[in-house]
Amino acid sequence: MRTRSSTPSDSQHRDNIQTMFELVAPRYDLMNDLMSFATHRLWKRAMVRKAPQCSGGFAVDVAGGTGDIARLLHQRGWNVTVCDPSAGMMRAGRPRQPSEISWVAGLGESLPFADASLDLLTVSFGLRNMTRPQHALAEAIRVLKPGGRFICLEFSTPAWWLKPFYDWYSEHIIPRLGAMVAGRPEAYRYLVDSIREFPDQDTLKEQMQAAGFADVTYTNLSFGIAAIHVGSKTS
Ligand code: SAM
Repeated sequence: MRTRSSTPSDSQHRDNIQTMFELVAPRYDLMNDLMSFATHRLWKRAMVRKAPQCSGGFAVDVAGGTGDIARLLHQRGWNVTVCDPSAGMMRAGRPRQPSEISWVAGLGESLPFADASLDLLTVSFGLRNMTRPQHALAEAIRVLKPGGRFICLEFSTPAWWLKPFYDWYSEHIIPRLGAMVAGRPEAYRYLVDSIREFPDQDTLKEQMQAAGFADVTYTNLSFGIAAIHVGSKTS
C-alpha cells in the first residue's frame, strides 16, 4: 500500500481515476460479468455473509459504485448508504437498486460521516483505487462505532500454481475485453496494474491492524484471486 506523504500529484491521480470511472460507468456491470465469468457476484455474496444479519443498523458501502453490495446488505436488513465520488457510477446503478438505499458523493479518504456513527463499513474493489488507502483505513476506524465491523473485498495474490494463468489472462484478455466492450483499453490496463501493485493478503491484514482494527482475519476466494478481510473496532 502506498505510504508516501501528500504531494500535489495526489489530486491529479485522484482526478484521473475518477474520470476513468465516469467513462466506464455505463458498461461497468457488464464488464465485471464478462471479465470474471460472473464470479464477482459469488464473491460479493460471500463478502456480505461476513456482515451480521441486522435489523436497523447503519451501514455504508464506500466506493459503492453501482450499488451491488448495498443491495445485498439491504436484503440482510441494513440501512445502507452508498458513498462514491463518481456520479456516473451511482447514476448507472441507482435505477436498478431498491429505493430505500441512500446515495452520497464522497471519498474513502475523507468520509462525509460523523465519528462513531456507523455499525458497518464495507468496501468492495475500492481500496485499491484510493490515492491514500491508509487514510481510508483510518477513516473507517473514525466513523465506526465501538464494536463496529469493517469488511473489505479486494483482488489479492493468487496461489503460485494459478498465478501464471492468471497473469496471462490479465495481461492479454482483460485489456482486449476493455477495448471491445467498454471502448476503454487504458481503463482496463489500469485495472490490471492496480491489482499487481496492491498488497497481498498478509500485508493488508497487517495494515488493518496498524490502523487500529482488532480480530483481523481474511478468507481467500477462488484460490486467492480475491480476498475478504474483516476487522473490528474495539473502542
Ligand atoms: N464497489 C463496487 C463494486 O464492487 O462493484 C464498485 C467498485 S469500482 C472497481 C471502484 C469504485 O471506487 C468506483 O465506483 C470509483 O468511483 C470508486 N472510487 C475511486 N476512487 C475513490 C476514492 N478515493 N474513494 C472512494 N471511492 C473511490
